[in-house]
Amino acid sequence: MDATSVAVLGDRLRGRLVQPDDADYDDARALYNAMIDKRPAAIAQCADPSDVATAVNVAREHGIDLAVRGGGHNGAGLGSVDGGLMIDLSPMRDVRVDGDGVVHAGGGALLGDLDAATHAAGGAVPVGILGTTGVGGLTLGGGVGNLTRTLGLTIDSLVGADVVLADGSTVIADERHEPDLFWALRGGGGNFGVATSLRYRMHPVTTVVAGPILWSVDQAPDVLSAYREFIGEAPDELNGYFALLTVPPVPLFPEELQLKKVCGVLWCYTGSPDDADAVLAPMRAVGKVALDAVAPMPLPALQSLFDPLYPPGHQWYWRTDFVQEIDDASVAIHADFGARLPTPMTAMHMYPVDAAASRVGANDTAWAYRDARWCQVIVGVDPDPAKADEIRAYTVDYWRALHPHTMGGGYVNMMMVDGNDRERVRMSYRDHYDRLARIKREYDPGNLFRVNQNIPPA
Ligand SMILES: Cc1cc2nc3c(=O)[nH]c(=O)nc-3n(C[C@H](O)[C@H](O)[C@H](O)COP(=O)(O)OP(=O)(O)OC[C@H]3O[C@@H](n4cnc5c(N)ncnc54)[C@H](O)[C@@H]3O)c2cc1C
Repeated sequence: MDATSVAVLGDRLRGRLVQPDDADYDDARALYNAMIDKRPAAIAQCADPSDVATAVNVAREHGIDLAVRGGGHNGAGLGSVDGGLMIDLSPMRDVRVDGDGVVHAGGGALLGDLDAATHAAGGAVPVGILGTTGVGGLTLGGGVGNLTRTLGLTIDSLVGADVVLADGSTVIADERHEPDLFWALRGGGGNFGVATSLRYRMHPVTTVVAGPILWSVDQAPDVLSAYREFIGEAPDELNGYFALLTVPPVPLFPEELQLKKVCGVLWCYTGSPDDADAVLAPMRAVGKVALDAVAPMPLPALQSLFDPLYPPGHQWYWRTDFVQEIDDASVAIHADFGARLPTPMTAMHMYPVDAAASRVGANDTAWAYRDARWCQVIVGVDPDPAKADEIRAYTVDYWRALHPHTMGGGYVNMMMVDGNDRERVRMSYRDHYDRLARIKREYDPGNLFRVNQNIPPA
């Protein structure tokens, strides 16, 4: 990025342009995943959609590599770019709910912003499990979390977006305007433009019966075998992702369990609280439960439960797959790798994407795995950069063992960028890939928006 383009942008921007000499440059460029260390030539902290358009125009006119940062949570660090321009949407975090129950979220809003605003208005939008994740990145990739079986993916509640396109123009994308673009936004990631505002249908969920039930990790074969049968038969109101983890050393958990390797399910029941015990009874009867912390709570309490345990700045390495059947061989692989999690924060989660999420038409959105029953993710995590190789090796070994038992593609929001990316992205969109590439050609023929799980124009 040369001095002329920096000067042009600095003049035109209503927000701030942060440059490498600025005292807060390191803070402004920091990503959630400290494994990724990128140094943009400039960071446009956009005050509003017109700033976004300005930055897009300057990047296109001057041939500058461009990245768009929403919440900065992306595992692969796709919110930033070395030597190029970062559009930073973090000043655009407003969320409001209008009288029709439509939620308007700024492109840089975090899930915690959305949860707080919707709860105050008497409802919720189904999003992810950590409040500090960005609404923009999570939504555009699909969005799985504590309410997926009840309400579908986050994209299933998306009713529209304002998008700054590669040519600098702004369009509304919804069922009536730019329907192809709206289809592509629902799963196709940041490939098609910058969403400066996202609009969602709100649902009347406020209080849930939620929390973990944990078992010692040696019971993983029994618990996972029971869970795979149980969850598929459970009512839509029951959400619960299976996890292999180490109990964090915090007072939230009994001292005798802290730092023990366990398996468990994080439940979230949206039906009548009086019914929750009966619904969960079959799982409570499995083996010997080590901790049962399921209780009624406001949804935002669940949504923010783990925020303090996962601050930014750790090393994260991700691998993901879609799963239709958890066969016996997979159960054995999970039990084996679960017993030797390499660091206390490393974990495996299996998010159910059946029930409401599976009843949306296979071709209604760009999300290509409506027939999957789980979105599975292995994450190697540790605060210490010296552990990066170890957590990466463990995650890759675990993933390689499981991958032959899965559906082939993975969830684009839970992937790194580390080789064979074109093929991996193609697999993740299956027969939607060619349509996405054609829509990309229409809206971004020069592939300006390429710092993402990229779909080059057809
Ligand atoms: C701790 C943690 C927990 C997570 N939990 C979940 C979960 O429960 N469910 C789930 O589905 N995912 C989860 N994720 C994955 C998450 O969805 C992705 O990391 C996602 O990319 C985060 O979005 P972001 O805006 O924070 O990321 P960023 O790093 O800012 O951006 C990621 C990508 O999205 C694009 N992007 C972001 N905002 C916009 C926008 N407004 N317009 C256009 N493009 C945009 C960027 O260009 C980039 O390509 C989690 C991630 C972490 C680190």
